[in-house]
Order: sequence, then structure tokens, then C-alpha cells
Amino acid sequence: MDPTAVLRDVFGHAAFRGGQREAIDAVLAGRDALVLQPTGAGKSACYQVPAVALARAGHGTTIVISPLIALMNDQVRALVGRGVAAAALHSQLDDDDRLETLRRLMAGELELLYLSPERAVLDGFRRLLGRARVALLAIDEAHCVSQWGHDFRPEYLRLGELREICDGPAIPMIALTATATPRVMAEIASSLELRTPVTVRGDFHRPNLAFEVIHVPPGRGEETRLAAMIAALERLGLRDQRDRSTGRAIIYCATRKTAETVADHLKAAGFAAGYYHAGRTARARDRAQTGFSLGRTRVLVATNAFGMGIDYPDIRAIVHYQAPGSLEAYYQEAGRAGRDGDPSTCLLLFGRGDLMTQRRISQSNSSSAKVEARREEALAAVGRYANAWTCRQQILCAHFTGTEDHAACTTCDACRDPQGASIEPLPAPAAALDDASAQIILAAMTAHDRPVGKGNLAKALRGSQAKPIVIQGLVRLPQHGALASASEDAIVATIDRLVADLRLVRKGRKYPMVALPGPPKVTRTTYARRGRDGTSTSSITVELDRYRRSMARKLKWKAYMVFQKATMVAIDEKRPDSLLALQRIPGLGLSRIERFGADVLAIVKRYTVS
Ligand code: ADP
Repeated sequence: MDPTAVLRDVFGHAAFRGGQREAIDAVLAGRDALVLQPTGAGKSACYQVPAVALARAGHGTTIVISPLIALMNDQVRALVGRGVAAAALHSQLDDDDRLETLRRLMAGELELLYLSPERAVLDGFRRLLGRARVALLAIDEAHCVSQWGHDFRPEYLRLGELREICDGPAIPMIALTATATPRVMAEIASSLELRTPVTVRGDFHRPNLAFEVIHVPPGRGEETRLAAMIAALERLGLRDQRDRSTGRAIIYCATRKTAETVADHLKAAGFAAGYYHAGRTARARDRAQTGFSLGRTRVLVATNAFGMGIDYPDIRAIVHYQAPGSLEAYYQEAGRAGRDGDPSTCLLLFGRGDLMTQRRISQSNSSSAKVEARREEALAAVGRYANAWTCRQQILCAHFTGTEDHAACTTCDACRDPQGASIEPLPAPAAALDDASAQIILAAMTAHDRPVGKGNLAKALRGSQAKPIVIQGLVRLPQHGALASASEDAIVATIDRLVADLRLVRKGRKYPMVALPGPPKVTRTTYARRGRDGTSTSSITVELDRYRRSMARKLKWKAYMVFQKATMVAIDEKRPDSLLALQRIPGLGLSRIERFGADVLAIVKRYTVS
């Protein structure tokens, strides 16, 4: 069957798109092909059209290796809907379905069979495959072969053997990817043992995408990121939940925790937002994705776990809340915007700590010197992209194709404002506080007597009751709230000055912690509980704090709803000894006294009478 007829009659497309014909002609002539095209360009047709043509001419089945079950199922569903005999073999099938698919393969009834790389290299399955009639091998997402890439899958390294298994070297192989630098392309060709493949390079220029980078000043990261993200979403009309014509947006975050926090902020700001990451249950992920697919949520905050195979036409913005680990990952994620060809925005929020965050994430996975060198190279490319002020699409195209001959896009921030006049200068760093404040910091460090994160210490001194501050016991510092009128930046700057003056030292490699110089003291500190000695005022506060937290757990309240810190301090000061005396404590209304009064009096009594 002629490929043009297959494209028209089976797939319903009038003409081939750029590069498709070249790749299809190559494999139909028995040659190998390597296809590098951006997502959405139409790579599937490059193997599906010849697969149908070959099968209907009696040459056998095309085996497609695909890394994701969801992706396989989507493809098979679409093919079957077009009358193509396609099936997938993966771990989620029950035994009956698996046997039936194998039977159809062996009987030559399948035009396309999708397989996971793991299954393709299983010994038992390879023996079966050896007896099947195979017309073509297609390796989708072929960059998974490379440790340089961001989706490395070790099983891909063994796919080169497939051709030998499938009855001889005559079978052509086509490898496809949306994300590969020249180096990764070479790695794909050598690992899959492609024989002088016809190489098809697509156009990475996406005229409808406006790329933009906003630099996030140190110390004001979250504020700036949230404001920039919300402004971008608002410009697109995504806050209005009734108007679905404005499309949707994906916010990519580097970590699961950030994804959750950002989703919370968006919801609080009135956006219909959901979140998706690999730490959620399959059901929760499914709900998040369905909500987004149906338009119930207009903004999805996600880690890179969300994306492969995602194809929504109307994504108007992809915001990277933090920088990703490589330009490959960036382009693939950002490239999910504007599939319908309408103008869309790809915004990268870039802060000094972002590359460090990526290092931390990847360090836990692997730390061989080779992998580290590759990671550093990838991170450096992200840094260069963020810090450049030339056409962003030119940088991306040059990165992917290895050539410099791309026209400027005219839509990115650098093209719109070549002089960079609109770049806001970063604010001056906060000034350190006076000596009295520095003394308070040192006193707090003496009281705490162990290393503490700079940010957490600053938050505690400003009076924060946030969970990390409570968990680390920083709310019990006598200096808690003592610098409430100073900014967090200024406190951190003062801590930095104390470090420069050697009055504090840095501790820990991963997080910026500080400590007093010298070995830690053995005795516990002023704010800690000292036992029932009848004299310690701080013991009452400690006990009251423990009590309110246990009540809060029981009642499913927040601790401050039981009573606030000021109330505990007042109880400690006034030592009430009757219900009447409790009424004079600010913050203890009748209903609280009714609920907790007797317990509070018992605590006070325990710690004031020896
Ligand atoms: P990729 O795998 O490169 O991300 P797909 O193969 O999923 O892209 O194709 C993206 C979209 O383009 C699909 O909706 C597909 O039907 C459409 N498409 C592919 N080839 C053509 C063509 N020749 N003409 C029109 N539409 C096409």
C-alpha cells in the first residue's frame, strides 16, 4: 500500500509534514532512520504509516518500544479506532489478554505491537519474538538510551540486540526522539547499532511560543516567584473559573513539596488549581489529571512526573517555578504549550539556588563521576540560557541541532527588548542590623546550642509559629519574636556578618546552617525544661505548649486555636490559681476556660508548688 494512501485513508491527513516522508521512505527502502523532531511535530506517523503499509503488503508486524504504559495505551486506542490491528503488551494486562495478544502476534494478525523496554529484553519474550514475523523496529523516546539525557532507562541499552533476535539484520530500525543534542543523537545511533541511518531533524523553532526568563532576587525568592507566576496566569485570564476558553497552564516545580505549596498558594489566590507528583497515590494522580483534562482545574502544578505523552491543545502557559536540570527537560516541558498554534507563554523563573536544588535532587539518584560531569554540563547550559540576553529560541535551536543558522523569533523577552531596558535591577541586598540585634541573635544561638538554619533562626526571631520552627523547638527560645520588626533578609544579613566576624560558624554541607564556634555545651539551655523544681517559669510554658499541641491533635485544631503563645506567657507570668483568675488572662474566653481551665490550673499548680 502506498504511504500517501495510508496517510490519507487510515490517518485522515491530506499531506505529509516536514521530515515525515523522508523517514518513511527510508524505512520502506529497508534503511534505518533517526528522527529528531519536537513534540507535536508528528513523529508517530513516521513509523505508523510504514507499519501499516508493510503489514498490509504481508511483511509482518512492527514492534514499537515505548517507555510508558499510558503512552502505549493512548496510541493503541487511537490506532484501533482507525481500523489498525494494534495491541500493547505490558504488566497491567491480565493473563488472558496477554495470551491473546501473543497469539495474535504469532499468528501474524497484528500490524503494530507496543512493548515496554523491560519486556522486550526478557529472555522468554525474546525467544517468542524470534519466531514472530517482524517488519520494522521502532524505538520511541530513543533519548532514554542516553545517560546524558534526562529520562535514562537502562533497558534501552540492550535494544540494539533486538534486530538480531528478530530474525536477521535485514529489518530496518527507526529511532525517534524529541529531545537530543548532537552528542545524544550519536549515542542513540551507536547504542542501537543503527546502520548509516537517514537522519531527519525537525524544526525546533516554535513561532507561537513566547519564551521569557525572570530572575529571582536572593532572599525574596518565594515572593517574587509567586507574584510573577500569578501575574502571568492572570494576564491569560486563568483566574476566571467560568471562562474555559482561556485555556490552561502547567506550573513545573523541582520538588514535590514545592508543587504542593505552590498549589496551595494558587488556590488561596482564587485559582482552580491541582497538583501532581509521583509521591501521590495512583488514585490521587488520576484525579488530578482528570480534573485538569476536563477543565475543572485550570492550572496544574506538577513535578516532571507529569508530562510524557501529554497532549492538550490549549495550554497557554508553561511556567517553570524553578529551573529544571537540563535544557532538554526544559524544552520538552515548555514545548507542551501552544500545541494548537495559538500564542502561548513559556516562563522560566530562575533563582540562584535553583541549580543547587537540581544538584541535590540528582545526587540522591546517582553520584558516579561521569554522571556528575554530565549533570554539571547540563546545568551549565540551563544557566547560560537563563543568563543570556539574546533570542531564546535561537539558543534552544542551536542547542538541539548544533547549528547557529536560526532566525530570531521576535517574540521572546530578549527579542522584544534587545537593550534589556525592561529588566528590573535586582534590589540591593538587605543591610545588617545594629549591634543590639546582633547580641539577640548570639543569645538565641547560645540558648539553642546546636546548629540551625539561617532562615529558620531569622523566622523564629521574627516570631514565626510555622511548623519547622515549632518542631525544632525554636518557638521556646526566650528570643522568639524579639526581632519582630526586622525583615527576614536583614536578620539573615546580620547572621552573615556574625559569620564573617567569626562569632558564628557555618555548619553542614547541604543546607546553610550556622552554629556557635567551638564544641557544643553539654548542659541544656535556659529555655529547655528543667524538671519540677518549682521555680522554672519556662517549664510552665513548655508544658502548656505540649498540652496545647496534644489537645490540638485530639480536636483536629491548630495549636494556636487552643491558645496563643501570648496567652501561655501570660499564664506563666500571672500563675492563676482559680477559674476566676483564669478569666483575667487575655485570650482565655469562657468557652476555653470551660474546656481547658482545669488542666491549665493543674499544670500551673504542678510547676509552682514543689
Ligand atoms: P509527536 O509524536 O511528534 O509528539 P504526534 O505523532 O503525536 O507527535 O502528532 C501530533 C499531532 O499531529 C497528532 O494530532 C497527529 O494526528 C498530527 N499529525 C501528524 N502527522 C500529520 C500530518 N501529516 N498532517 C496533519 N496532522 C498530522
